[in-house]
Amino acid sequence: MKYGRIYNFSAGPAMMPEPVLEEIAAEVMNYHGSGMSVMEMSHRSAVFQEIRDQAEADLRKLMNIPDNYNVLFIQGGGTLQFSMIPMNLIRTGKAGYLETGHWSGKAIPEARKYGEIEILASSRDRNFSYIPDVSQIQIPDDLDYVYICENETIHGTTYWDLPDTRGIPLVSDQSSMFLSRPCDVTKYGLIWAGVQKNIGPAGMTVVIIRKDLIRDDLDPKTPVYLSYKTHADHESMYNTPNCWSVYCCGKVFEYLIKLGGLEEMARRNREKADIFYQFLEQSAYFESPVAEKDRSFMNIPFRTPSKEEDLKCVAALKSAGFDNLKGHKSVGGLRASIYNAMPKAGVEALVNFLREYEKSAR
Ligand SMILES: *Cc1c(COP(=O)(O)O)cnc(C)c1O
Repeated sequence: MKYGRIYNFSAGPAMMPEPVLEEIAAEVMNYHGSGMSVMEMSHRSAVFQEIRDQAEADLRKLMNIPDNYNVLFIQGGGTLQFSMIPMNLIRTGKAGYLETGHWSGKAIPEARKYGEIEILASSRDRNFSYIPDVSQIQIPDDLDYVYICENETIHGTTYWDLPDTRGIPLVSDQSSMFLSRPCDVTKYGLIWAGVQKNIGPAGMTVVIIRKDLIRDDLDPKTPVYLSYKTHADHESMYNTPNCWSVYCCGKVFEYLIKLGGLEEMARRNREKADIFYQFLEQSAYFESPVAEKDRSFMNIPFRTPSKEEDLKCVAALKSAGFDNLKGHKSVGGLRASIYNAMPKAGVEALVNFLREYEKSAR
């Protein structure tokens, strides 16, 4: 690692690709001869307009986003989407949610402010350590949408199969898996992702929404910023956007295209996750609390035989230059977040350290 950087296993904000950071650093004083940095630039300037348009075009290319979807860049982080989604999408008064952990759990009480929310399935019975069998769930016909959190950042689970919603729009929180593997956008009504997990600097959320779901008949008291139509009508430039995040995320989109797109990211991410899970499987000291079939490639919770030893291990890792490996308080143990930007060498170095640590701890 260059510049004294370390392997940072944070769940978010998280690592960005080093070549992208280098490009940004080179452009920070004077972007393409404009005489200013992107941080200092009017969002109404031609030079910024081009940055925004290119970012959207590259994201469309990466995900193969059809023309009947809008791509929106919205501020307010992931949490704002917990409210914007029900405010904009509940028409008849009912929506269905799958409860699979912390982040779907945060979305549910917010949605209840706007309508009747049916919990279609839950994995609460085993502390959200698995994804319910989606082929078994009953979906009533009168729902406005079905909501999932496709990768639960804290619990380390992911949907490898999507529920068949039989025409009801599927809404997915992809924050901690966005652009980590190919995604068939046509299966969704709305996809959203806070960018600070797998893409770029905090402060922006990407929303990909099927155009027919954008309404002009919302409650007139709806704040103008919270209507998807406002953002769609103004190419996400109704007001000053998070110019810096748009720019940095655009750089990452371009970089992912250069690497070979989402098939290639999936290959790399599977390779990295396999190294880690294979280590956990053969270990007599560390273990994964997550059902094997539902394991995330992005966030990997694991634990030692006791809480005290978990903490000792986190401290030993930190002094060896592996940071942010403490598990979330609701799950305990440790957690390695190995997003797109974590190099394979980082995962190998972590596994080598843990292997040695196990020998001395047992
Ligand atoms: C981090 C996270 C959020 C919340 O994002 P904020 O930008 O902090 O509001 C929502 N969903 C998932 C899956 C996350 O990982």
